[in-house]
Amino acid sequence: MLKVQISRGGSVPFEFKVAADFFCGKNFLDNGSFIGDIQISGEIINDGLKFVARGKIKCRKQFSCDRCLTQSTVDQDVNFDEELERADIVDDYVELTELVRDNLIASQPIQNLCRADCKGLCPVCGKNLNDGACECETFTVDPRLAPLINLKSFEEV
Ligand SMILES: [Zn+2]
Ligand SMILES: [Zn+2]
Repeated sequence: MLKVQISRGGSVPFEFKVAADFFCGKNFLDNGSFIGDIQISGEIINDGLKFVARGKIKCRKQFSCDRCLTQSTVDQDVNFDEELERADIVDDYVELTELVRDNLIASQPIQNLCRADCKGLCPVCGKNLNDGACECETFTVDPRLAPLINLKSFEEV
């Protein structure tokens, strides 16, 4: 599908635009999916000894935040620079589909957050703490005050 005809002793530019769900499928990622179009551009370089595919993948990912579960999107730019195997070249054509898929998977972060400082959900009431603090937080005891509280309950006994 992403085929480029190679040239021996030179470089060949390429540019593709592929619908994300057609290219990757719905369950391509564990968390989220790519939406819109995926743009792939770059060049196949031949220095006389080997062939190298170098370029950039531009895509948009939709996911639910690992901490607060909010649906979010992020634009990703993935660079690749890979020497091609002999088996990648068939009848002077290179098929880049697998290379692009592998690079997309390898570049995914371990955590998917709506923003770097996402505060997450309150474990007690479930409120999204990015929207402001909840009532539960007033019950948290400052560790410096804890001895005073213990003292008070001792007196009551
Ligand atoms: Zn979040
Ligand atoms: Zn709460």
